[in-house]
Amino acid sequence: MLTCKQASQLISQSLDHPLSWYELMQLRLHLMMCGACNRFRKQLNVLRVGLRKIRANVENDSAIQLPLDAKARIVEKVRSDQHAK
Ligand SMILES: [Zn+2]
Repeated sequence: MLTCKQASQLISQSLDHPLSWYELMQLRLHLMMCGACNRFRKQLNVLRVGLRKIRANVENDSAIQLPLDAKARIVEKVRSDQHAK
């Protein structure tokens, strides 16, 4: 049985790369029983979708009239934030 700490680490990892079958089973089992980790996973998903939208907007929306270097910095920042998760 995973601890909440281990479960939340697996949830974070699953954003960056697919979990192994074993990790996934362990995590599913934990999520069936743990409301706190379920909420954590939902929040992380919302955050991830939000970040992706922001990044797409900044990269593709020509209506955003930022100096090019500022735009690049924002994209870079969002990217590194997402990577750090
Ligand atoms: Zn938990």
